[in-house]
Amino acid sequence: MGGSAFDGAGNMAGGTGPVPPGATLFGLSGPRLRRLGVALLAVGLALFFLAILPVLLAINQFASDPWGTAPGVVLGSFFLSFVLSGIGMVLMGIGGYALRFGLVRPVTTYVATEASPGIETAVTAIGQGLRQAGFGPSPTGSNAIRVKCRNCGYLETEDADFCSKCGQRL
Ligand SMILES: [Zn+2]
Repeated sequence: MGGSAFDGAGNMAGGTGPVPPGATLFGLSGPRLRRLGVALLAVGLALFFLAILPVLLAINQFASDPWGTAPGVVLGSFFLSFVLSGIGMVLMGIGGYALRFGLVRPVTTYVATEASPGIETAVTAIGQGLRQAGFGPSPTGSNAIRVKCRNCGYLETEDADFCSKCGQRL
């Protein structure tokens, strides 16, 4: 297997648009990153499917000669499959991440730097609004003890000497 197929795919992916100069991963810029991502995905996929082969061979051998097959051979085949598929999955994961990073980096950067403070401000504002509307703990309202004015029935704070509505001494 040569690198020509991967190069073609990488060039195709690289032709989607301009890449910002800041987009790097492992010191690689966007187009190279996308090419690396495609290559890793392809190799990982190949390894993942190759991993089935040892198991198939072992099963085939076991079926044709059950008593002549040492258990260690079968176990070894399964272990080889496990390792191969594991490496394949890791490569596919890194490749997918590299590919996504190379393509979506401007968007995620924008979200991380621009949207987060906005969300924080919005959440704070909503919290203040809820508090003012009577939900949640209020620093002034819930703790203050109120006394009812005998003249007008206005609920005045306990430390007040006069009713703030009608002026009656409390
Ligand atoms: Zn009053």
